[in-house]
Amino acid sequence: MSGADTRIPYLPARVEGLAALAMNLRWSWSRDARALFRAIDELLWHQTHHNPLQLLRRVDPARIAACASDPAYLRLYDSVMERFRRETTTDETWFTEHYGDLRGRQVAYFCAEFGLHNSVPIYSGGLGVLAGDHCKSASDLGVPLVGVGLLYEKGYFDQRLRLDGWQEDTDEEFDVSATPLVQLTGPGREPFVTVVETCGRPVHVGAWRIMVGRVPVYLLDTNLEVNHPEDRSLMNKLYAGGPDMRLRQEWILGVGGVRVLRAVGIDPAVWHANEGHAAFMLLERLREQVAAGRTLEEAVARVRATSVFTTHTPVPAGHDFFSFEEVERVAGPIWEPMGVARETLLGLGEFPGQPDLFHMTVAATRLSSRINGVSRRHGQVSRQLWRELWPNRPAEAVPIGHITNGVHLETWMATPIRRMLDELLGPGWNRRPEDPRMWDQVPRLDPERLWQVHVELKNVLFRLIREDARWRFADRWREAAHVVGAGTLLDPAALTIGFARRFATYKRASLVFHDLERLRRLAADPYRPLQIVFAGKAHPADTPGKEVLQRVYQFTRDPAFQGRVAFLEDYDMHLAHLLVQGVDVWLNLPRVPLEASGTSGMKAGLNGVPQLGTLDGWWQEGYDGLSGWAIPPAGEEAEPDAEDADRLYRLLEEQLIPLFYTRDAQGVPLGWVEKMRYAIRLAGSRFTGRRMVQDYVRAYYVPAMRGEASGDDPPTA
Ligand SMILES: *Cc1c(COP(=O)(O)O)cnc(C)c1O
Repeated sequence: MSGADTRIPYLPARVEGLAALAMNLRWSWSRDARALFRAIDELLWHQTHHNPLQLLRRVDPARIAACASDPAYLRLYDSVMERFRRETTTDETWFTEHYGDLRGRQVAYFCAEFGLHNSVPIYSGGLGVLAGDHCKSASDLGVPLVGVGLLYEKGYFDQRLRLDGWQEDTDEEFDVSATPLVQLTGPGREPFVTVVETCGRPVHVGAWRIMVGRVPVYLLDTNLEVNHPEDRSLMNKLYAGGPDMRLRQEWILGVGGVRVLRAVGIDPAVWHANEGHAAFMLLERLREQVAAGRTLEEAVARVRATSVFTTHTPVPAGHDFFSFEEVERVAGPIWEPMGVARETLLGLGEFPGQPDLFHMTVAATRLSSRINGVSRRHGQVSRQLWRELWPNRPAEAVPIGHITNGVHLETWMATPIRRMLDELLGPGWNRRPEDPRMWDQVPRLDPERLWQVHVELKNVLFRLIREDARWRFADRWREAAHVVGAGTLLDPAALTIGFARRFATYKRASLVFHDLERLRRLAADPYRPLQIVFAGKAHPADTPGKEVLQRVYQFTRDPAFQGRVAFLEDYDMHLAHLLVQGVDVWLNLPRVPLEASGTSGMKAGLNGVPQLGTLDGWWQEGYDGLSGWAIPPAGEEAEPDAEDADRLYRLLEEQLIPLFYTRDAQGVPLGWVEKMRYAIRLAGSRFTGRRMVQDYVRAYYVPAMRGEASGDDPPTA
C-alpha cells in the first residue's frame, strides 16, 4: 500500500524517475511533465483521464522501452527531471528570498476539501479547488505550508441525469492505489497514527500524505479495522449524511488533524482554518495549552495570536452550527479536564441571542486574531454579518478584512495561451507576474493568432462534448433526447456562453430563461445564433437546487431552442478546464450579495474568455469596463430577477452578439478579441493564486510567525 514500487510494475532504469514524478502532483501543472506522460501512449493518457499512475500500470512495457531509447524523449525526460528535482528541493524561492529569517516555520492549512486533481475526488466545488490552488501556489512560492484534510473514500458523488432532468447521485469510484497517496503508519507499523475520542469511544485515525510540489497534504482516514463499524464509515463521503455525521467529520478533522501533525513531528508556527469546518482545530489547541498549565485566558490569547481564519460564504446555510448537546455527545465533556465550565468553553461558539448553539464560524472568529473574507465585497458583507460580536463598534470597524481569491495560473491557463505569453513576455514571466507593467503588454497580443488559438480550444471542447455524448449514448442512454441535451447539435461557430457552477438557487442558473420568447429569438437566429452550455451539480440534499437543474435541463430538449442549449453531466475539474478554455463568454448571475467571490470567471479570464456577470464577489472589484460586461445592481424597488434578466438580454442583444459577429476580412472579430486580451490581463495581473498566497503571507502568515500582534480586539459579545 505504500511507495511507488508496488504500484508501478517495472520501468527501465533510464526512465525510472517517471515513478517519482508520478508520485508528486507537481507533474499536473508542468506542461513538459504532462507531455512526457502523454508521449508514452496518448490514447491511454486520455483513457486514464490524465492519471500517470494508471498509465504506467497499464501501458504495454514495449512502449516505455521504446521511449527509453528515443533520444528526443530522453532529452525531454532529462530536462523535466532536472526541473522537478530543483523545484521540489532547492531553497531558493520567493519566500526564502523575502523571509529568509523565517526558514523552518510552517503554516498548517486546514480545509474540509481539497481539489488537487481529478484523480483524487475529495472536493465538491469552489472551496476545494481554491484550497488546491492555494497549496500549488504555496509550493511555487516556497511558502512552507502543510495541508490537512479528510480522505473521503467514496469521494463526492457522480451525477447522472434522468431523462426528465432529475439528478441522481451515484457513488464516485475512487481507487486510492491509483493516486499518489501514501499511507503513513504509527511507530509499531500499525495503520493509525493517533486516536480521537468521539461518542464515548476511541476512534483510531490514520493518515495519508499526498505531495503537491513541495507541499505535503495530510488526509485523515478512519476506515481502519480496529475501529467500530460506524466509525469506519465516518469518512465515506464528502458533505453526505446529516448534521450528526458532519459534526463528527469536523471533530476528526480539527482534533485529529492537530494530533496527526504532532505525531509526524510537525510544529506549525501558524494555523489557518480555511472555512469554519476546521474550527475544532482551535479548540484542540486550547486544550493543549491548558494541559500545559496555562489558564483558559492565556490559552485563548496564544491560540488567537497564531491563528488565521478565512470565512467563505455570506449565505447563512453555509455556516455550520450544532447544539451544545450534540457537541457534548460527539466531543464528550472536554471542558472537564480543562477545569472550566461547559458554558464557558462551548460559549466560545455562541452568537449573541442564540443560546446553547455552537457556531463553527463564531468559534473560529473568537479564536483567531486574523480573519478575512474572500473578496472586497465579501469583506464588507462579513463585517455586517458578524458585527454583533463587537457590539461597541460600527460595522466598518469590525476587524474582518479581505484577501480576494485567486486561481493557480499554471493549472488553469491553456498551453497555447501560455505559449503566446512566452513569446510576448519572455520565459519565466509566470514567476514574476506581480509586475503590473508586464501585464500592460498583453493587450498587444496578435489578434489574429489569439483568435486562432481560441478557435482551436473551442474545437477541443466541442469534440469532447461529442465524444462524451457518443460514449454515454453507447453506454446507457436509450433516448435521442439525451443525446441532443448533451450538446451534439451545438455549432462550433456560434457565440457560446458557458455557465458552470453548483446549482444553488442564489446562483440563478435559470435566469436566462426568464423571458423564453426573447431567449428563443436569440438562440434561433439563423445568422447570429446564441448557444448556452450548462454544467454543475446540485448538492444531494438541496432539493430546490435540483429543481432549478431540472428546469434548465428541460430546455435542452425543447425544439424551440433547436439544440442550442446543452447540459454536460458530471461537472468536475476536468470538465471545468475544458469549459473555461473553450467557451466564448463566461456567465455568472449570483443574486447580489450572496456570492463570496467566485473563481471560475477568473479561470475563464486567464484563457481570454471574458465574463458577463452581476457585480458581486470578485467581479465587483475586477470589472473594469474593458474586460467583460456587468449587470449593474437592480434598483431598490425592482424585482431583481426580472430587472437583472432584462439587463442580461439587453447586453446580449446590443453588445455581445454584434461584437462577436462583426468580423474583419480574415474573419476575426477584432472588437471581441480586444475584450479577450483585457480579460487575460485582468485575471493574470490581479486574480492568480500567486497573488493571493503572497497576500496571505504578507498580511497574515509572516506577522503571525514574527509574533506581531494583529492589533485587532477579540469579540466582546
Ligand atoms: C473553479 C471551480 C468551481 C468554483 O467556481 P465558482 O465560480 O466559484 O462557482 C467549482 N467547481 C469546479 C470543478 C471548479 O473547477
